[in-house]
Amino acid sequence: MKKTLFDKIWDAHVVRQIDEGPSVLYIDRMYIHEVTSPQAFDGLTARGLNVFRPAQITATADHNVPTKNQHLPVRDDLSRSQLEKLALNCRNHGITHFGLGDDYNGIVHVIGPELGYTRPGMTIVCGDSHTSTHGALGSMAFGIGTSEVEMVLASQCILQTKPKSMRITIEGETAEGVTAKDIILYIISKLGTDGGTGYFVEFAGSAIRGLSIEGRMTLCNMSIEMGARGGMIAPDQKTFDYLKGRKFGLAEVDLSQATEKWKELVTDEGAVFDKEYLFKAEDIPLMITYGTNPGMGMPVNSSIPKTESVDPSAAESFAKALKYMGFKEGEKLIGKKVDYVFLGSCTNGRIEDLRIFTSYVRGKKKSPDVEVWIVPGSKLVEQQAYDEGLVQILNDAGFELRQPGCSACLAMNDDKIPEGKYCLSTSNRNFEGRQGPGSRTLLAGPLLAAAAAVTGVVSQPF
Ligand code: SF4
Repeated sequence: MKKTLFDKIWDAHVVRQIDEGPSVLYIDRMYIHEVTSPQAFDGLTARGLNVFRPAQITATADHNVPTKNQHLPVRDDLSRSQLEKLALNCRNHGITHFGLGDDYNGIVHVIGPELGYTRPGMTIVCGDSHTSTHGALGSMAFGIGTSEVEMVLASQCILQTKPKSMRITIEGETAEGVTAKDIILYIISKLGTDGGTGYFVEFAGSAIRGLSIEGRMTLCNMSIEMGARGGMIAPDQKTFDYLKGRKFGLAEVDLSQATEKWKELVTDEGAVFDKEYLFKAEDIPLMITYGTNPGMGMPVNSSIPKTESVDPSAAESFAKALKYMGFKEGEKLIGKKVDYVFLGSCTNGRIEDLRIFTSYVRGKKKSPDVEVWIVPGSKLVEQQAYDEGLVQILNDAGFELRQPGCSACLAMNDDKIPEGKYCLSTSNRNFEGRQGPGSRTLLAGPLLAAAAAVTGVVSQPF
């Protein structure tokens, strides 16, 4: 029987199929962080249970860490207590923990792949929606709730109902400057924020194969913003090359033997998906959002749609979004003042994003009218930015590099966008108040972020 990539990984991990019910799935790796794990550990303790396979759990502190002066005690009481609790729980249960200040600390979806913990063919979960990021390496990765985190801590298994399958194929070559962020914002603008609901998505086609592994992570990261359970991309030579020399997770793996097995992780010719979409890469422009969900996106040089062109069932939310954002239908965003620029998050906080940003601002100067937060996704990304001379270029242009963390992606730390202010952000969500109460978010890629950082307005980079 012909199988999809998803089928192959799913079938290899079913421990037990409950009659007319969900499957018990084995989980190869779970990532945890300070926000969604404390209750799970409390539940475990209350039931007198231990962590079943601590070597298959990896912890990091990311959501509410400060991005300045990380050597000082964390000022916020709740954040400090959550960070301490994570450290204690990991110590008590023998779990590897990359805490604040650790050389390998960073955002959970950045450190997992970069340290070699995420590999093709694995099942991966985390109490965090953007766990889908790890699908970029050919794994089946998805976010879970706190009670499910507890379940995996206790049993290394989870109950899951198999989702439907979708393939999104993008063929051809993208135009100059178009990045993975533009590709995914384009897809979501076409399919809507519920277009993937009930499905697990495989991305395929020449444009996807042309992306770097980091670009693939950006794409899979935001697959959940169209409602999908997760996104994945078949591993290829780029994946195998990316994994060579990764620091931790590969210690027990014979890479050449594993690579031969990983090569089988492709969708069989003739396998049938429940839904298929095909897009042309050359149709994809530089994208930006104008509204309060990631599906409200448009080409940066275009105009906000007029109400008459919006689906009548969405007219009310469209009007509400424009009111919140302070925009009018038919208006252009080019030239609109931006108060903040945020480069970072598990969507665009990797070294390639910093390289794109830096290559644009090199030799230019930061606009005095805009506050710019450049936040690396991990300590390794931060170190690499110094090693490659990117930090010097940024400093020469008037920017500074902060320290790693989720930062203004969800503003659980001090990095909050003030009420009513506009932030051009490379993160993944533009919901009302996501970057701070009353904040207004324009989602875009690192190139548009760089252009706004030097002009102070939404700009075409070229
Ligand atoms: S960067 Fe944002 S989306 Fe990613 S893990 Fe942190 S809070 Fe979640």
